[in-house]
Amino acid sequence: MNCRDFSEIVDSYLSNELLVETNHDVIRHLEHCRDCRELLAERRELRARLKGAVVRADYSQIDPAFAVRVRDELRSKFERPARSFAGMRLAFAGLAVVIIAVIGIALYVLSTRKSTEQAVLPPEATPSNVIIPPEGTQVVPAFLVEVSRDAFDDHKNCALAHKLKERPISLEKAARTVDAVNLGFDRDVMDALRERFGNDAKLIKAHYCVINGRYFTHVVVALANRTTSVLLTKQTDAERDSADPMPCGSDTNLSAACFSSGGYAVFVVSDSLESETLQVANTISGAVARHISKAKVAA
Ligand SMILES: [Zn+2]
Ligand SMILES: [Zn+2]
Repeated sequence: MNCRDFSEIVDSYLSNELLVETNHDVIRHLEHCRDCRELLAERRELRARLKGAVVRADYSQIDPAFAVRVRDELRSKFERPARSFAGMRLAFAGLAVVIIAVIGIALYVLSTRKSTEQAVLPPEATPSNVIIPPEGTQVVPAFLVEVSRDAFDDHKNCALAHKLKERPISLEKAARTVDAVNLGFDRDVMDALRERFGNDAKLIKAHYCVINGRYFTHVVVALANRTTSVLLTKQTDAERDSADPMPCGSDTNLSAACFSSGGYAVFVVSDSLESETLQVANTISGAVARHISKAKVAA
């Protein structure tokens, strides 16, 4: 199987419609093909989003007026004493209809929820540990989760708006006065991004800034017209180092990917899809690791 073959059957694969042998071919190909693993992750995410949109859509919701009517009807039937045996029978018949309707709606909601969850998981025949673990199984180290909140804040208040309390300083100045790792960080990040994305990657600005008391080496990039932040900060917890890039939470319409290297935590924050943000982190992680070790040798 080659990449073209895979791209033609990726949807059948996700729908678990392939023969067992073909499934095995797919898994063998995915084991050594990163491009197709990324394609699979993107397609899986897209399908989950589409399903989610249907479940959340207006026509899938219970009409609030209907809900109020049902509640009032139930209440009046219970509170009003039945005037006759026939009236009581009528009330019970009405109640039975309402209960059946409520159970039906609950079952429907449950079944759509379940199918949304299933869409995120790989097909049964797939050994998920070989390919991409379903969301939630990858454990993000606690300190990265904690720093990611500041990374989101910095992206919002520094890259997207200009609402920092302290003015940022240049990377050259930060390299002289704070940490040599700042020198040329923007250049190494941009080189890696241009190698992969060509002219779609444009440097907006690079500086050393502080938010919530945390200092970041901050490179702001326009990637295919989306504003993306690459943020580097010194790690306090040096034990959990060298984590590979992984999805690192989301904040409203933003997603983050993070990794740690040589005593630094690195974040990519963007309004792109999680899979795309992760792709950016994968693209720069090697160059960033080399940059950090280079700076340490020079220091
Ligand atoms: Zn491939
Ligand atoms: Zn900044």
